[in-house]
Amino acid sequence: MTSQRFIGTPWGPSGVPSVKRPAGRVAQHPLIDLQRQAGNAAVAALVQRISPTVQRTVTFDDCEALEFGIAGDHRRAMEMARTTIVKLRAYDGTSPAAVAAALQKHFHSKRKIVASMVANGLENLVSDADDVQYECHEQEDQGSTLAEALWCIPFTDVKLFKKYFSSDDTTKANTLIHELSHRYLCTFDLGYDWEPSYGTAGTFRALNNAEPYGNIVVALGR
Ligand SMILES: [Zn+2]
Repeated sequence: MTSQRFIGTPWGPSGVPSVKRPAGRVAQHPLIDLQRQAGNAAVAALVQRISPTVQRTVTFDDCEALEFGIAGDHRRAMEMARTTIVKLRAYDGTSPAAVAAALQKHFHSKRKIVASMVANGLENLVSDADDVQYECHEQEDQGSTLAEALWCIPFTDVKLFKKYFSSDDTTKANTLIHELSHRYLCTFDLGYDWEPSYGTAGTFRALNNAEPYGNIVVALGR
């Protein structure tokens, strides 16, 4: 189905905008008039498109009394990610040394471009995750698995299992960033930090692995 809405308007038959002009005003180029008359409305429409009035907010499924704590965990994780982004953006390729060390340890490169790529990823994560839904499985023992997110699939929940709720704040922040990177950055599980492959992976592999994002946020996020 096609829309006829914009055909023939605002452009008149002669190909110039059909804009009403107040009487007595000096004629100007029709485009300037159009801009004057339509400008504010067009800007308002654009802003409306960019930031719709629908409130983006973190939501919960089956969490009840746990909601408050998870909301706090989420805020803390996002705050740590923002702090990490600031440090990565300020990094000049060699200093501060702590940033160089964290980049080397988790992404196996100290290059400024890698810092930018990690910062870009975290920025997307923070911006997109403001409408995440957490699903509570606090009674469900999944062994060492704290949480789970479906890879890269919109409108799917991040599940939190029993072990998540007994973890410390740092582990929770690390876990949330890890899962949110699966969900929003489409990262894979290409090596956990206790596996030998984590330390020997190339930078490209690390950039596509969820684990380093959680770890660098813990390393630099405060
Ligand atoms: Zn994972």
